[in-house]
Amino acid sequence: MLVVTKFGGSSLSCATQFAKVKRIVESDAKRKIVVVSALGKRDASDTKITDLLYILHAHLKYGVPYEEIWNMVVTRFLDIKAELHLQYDIMADLEGLKLELNKGIAEDYLVSRGEYLTAKLMSDYLGYTFVDAKDLICFNYDGKIDYALTEKKVKLAFSEYGIIVVPGFYGAYPNGSVKLLSRGGSDVTGSILAKCLNVSLYENWTDVSGILAADPRIIDHPKAIKEITYEELRELSYMGANVLHEETVFPVQSLNIPINLKNTNDPNHPGTLIKNICDDKTDIVTGLAGKKEFVSFDISKNHMSNEIGFLRKALTIFEKYQVSVEHIPSGIDSFSVVVPQDSVEKSQYEIITELKKALGAEVSLDEDIALVAVVGRNMAGKSGICGMIFETLGSHNINVKLLAQGPSELNIIIGVSQKDYEATLKALYQKLL
Ligand code: ASP
Repeated sequence: MLVVTKFGGSSLSCATQFAKVKRIVESDAKRKIVVVSALGKRDASDTKITDLLYILHAHLKYGVPYEEIWNMVVTRFLDIKAELHLQYDIMADLEGLKLELNKGIAEDYLVSRGEYLTAKLMSDYLGYTFVDAKDLICFNYDGKIDYALTEKKVKLAFSEYGIIVVPGFYGAYPNGSVKLLSRGGSDVTGSILAKCLNVSLYENWTDVSGILAADPRIIDHPKAIKEITYEELRELSYMGANVLHEETVFPVQSLNIPINLKNTNDPNHPGTLIKNICDDKTDIVTGLAGKKEFVSFDISKNHMSNEIGFLRKALTIFEKYQVSVEHIPSGIDSFSVVVPQDSVEKSQYEIITELKKALGAEVSLDEDIALVAVVGRNMAGKSGICGMIFETLGSHNINVKLLAQGPSELNIIIGVSQKDYEATLKALYQKLL
């Protein structure tokens, strides 16, 4: 039985956090593959190493003095080495990097050093072998992961060294140049390694005890979710719940490798288990999430329902402007196309003009839409849930602008005015969770 264990930046912010990581890794012999992010924030006012490195690169690019930022980066790493009495000659690596700064260093390479140096420190501290992500995570030139090659390399490295530390967040193109994943991508690195080695569990350690059933900035101390399916997680993340990098699930889902989200600061808490099938039927609703800033193109025309191809013509226009459509609630002679506001910021007037011309329809724009998702695998086939939602919102004087439910009955999406967004979440949380 093998476990891939990934630690996020807050679990690696200082020597004390490193010590917690060591205790966790050493408390279970199955934790043979450790993935690390770069040093994170020590407190709310601190800056992540990754952000410092991005800022450093911007300074270099615009020819602004960068010594101060460079020194901040160096101090963070040296402090950890000193406090933990590590042998790794990090100064040599830092001096080598400094020499490259003025030679047009690539942004991806510079930023990836956050994870690289953190992993080197961690490998020394744990006594695990450091394996560079650029030798494992292989990208094609189109930016997609070459899974066949990656798997070959990961298996080889693992069989050679047995216990390894791998920096997250980056890989390399076939020519060896470093390519970053998108922000938060160390989650994805862990997931790729878990898939390649077909492990029994992928652990993802952060500073919260699992996924919360609602946004804690809106709901006071929401409960943590014990178990959640990959699909439910996708729905919640898509609708704004900030949990894992959204691509984390794909590599492990097909092999049914569960993900356990755990808290480095409270390792005995079970956290949240994400898997294909969850047997727990206690809660009908698993969680709530939502996002503001949607707009709705409201399209109406007399006897529209008799015109074949009407919807296609409308959607072709959204396609032309590369706008991804979220929902299409419809009546008989009218329908709405709901999209994220930022996706039509530049094109909304052109889209309206083209819709009017192509369809001969009335088109108006509602720019005040927030969406709230009620997500729960146990909602399927149950009666009365929409009733409960409407009753709750009605009793709080909240007007429902639109409603959508997918065929899997996994989620119910409610559109409300943005001013009602927080109140909607609060009312639904109180009733459903
Ligand atoms: N350090 C990177 C970031 O801050 C990647 C990660 O933490 O997963 O986005």
